[in-house]
Amino acid sequence: MLRFKSLGSGSSGNATLVEALGLQPFRVLIDCGLGLKHLVYRLGQAGLQPEDIDAVFITHEHGDHMGCARSLSLRYRIPVWMSHGTHAATGSPDFDGLLHTARDGEIIDLGGLQLTPFTVPHDAREPLQLTCTDGSAKLGVLTDLGHATAHVMEHLKACHALLLECNHDIEMLAQSAYPAFLKRRVGGQYGHLANTAAADITRAVRHPGLKHLVAAHLSAQNNRPALVQDVMAEALSCAPEDIIVAKPDDGSCWLQI
Ligand SMILES: [Zn+2]
Ligand SMILES: [Zn+2]
Repeated sequence: MLRFKSLGSGSSGNATLVEALGLQPFRVLIDCGLGLKHLVYRLGQAGLQPEDIDAVFITHEHGDHMGCARSLSLRYRIPVWMSHGTHAATGSPDFDGLLHTARDGEIIDLGGLQLTPFTVPHDAREPLQLTCTDGSAKLGVLTDLGHATAHVMEHLKACHALLLECNHDIEMLAQSAYPAFLKRRVGGQYGHLANTAAADITRAVRHPGLKHLVAAHLSAQNNRPALVQDVMAEALSCAPEDIIVAKPDDGSCWLQI
């Protein structure tokens, strides 16, 4: 069995805990887009300490994902996985032997938990998103996606839970005070997913075993949780309140699959 919990999601910072529940629980932290003090505080709210984290996976170099990865890793001696490009894009900092290279399609076997990173179109150097499994339950984590490629869709098949970017409402983005270049960037092929695009992905991978959908990385300016819940509920034929929205400050509750 797996359980997972967003510790916070949005352009102010992203971090998601995934735990394989066994005799000896195994925990990975996906992204560290917060200051170290904040991250430790939110781990505490989840009933954990930094020492309880067995591995860190960083999806890409943007500050809302990379955050305190290096200081967390060095201070608590936690191994970190990221792509070569992500590491290079931040100036190839030294991780004192704790850094491991993640590659598209190459399974990272952490014992009780296996991660499968996959390449995504996003305006970073070598961004990866991932699925996590303990051998039976499968969780897909997908934020910061410009558009859904066949490669992405292949990896999201048969997930029992999805944490999926629902970044913006197309109309709200068009009407927003964002400068034109930023509107083009956010809404472009290498930017962020609109609610309707996230709903299309959900419809395509929907199956009876899909138990939870967590909407993540909502834009504070160009989206509303209620809009996301309506669009995603329609895609899944469920009630809007069944769609969980990860908040910037306290993320989501624990969800088990
Ligand atoms: Zn982001
Ligand atoms: Zn990004």
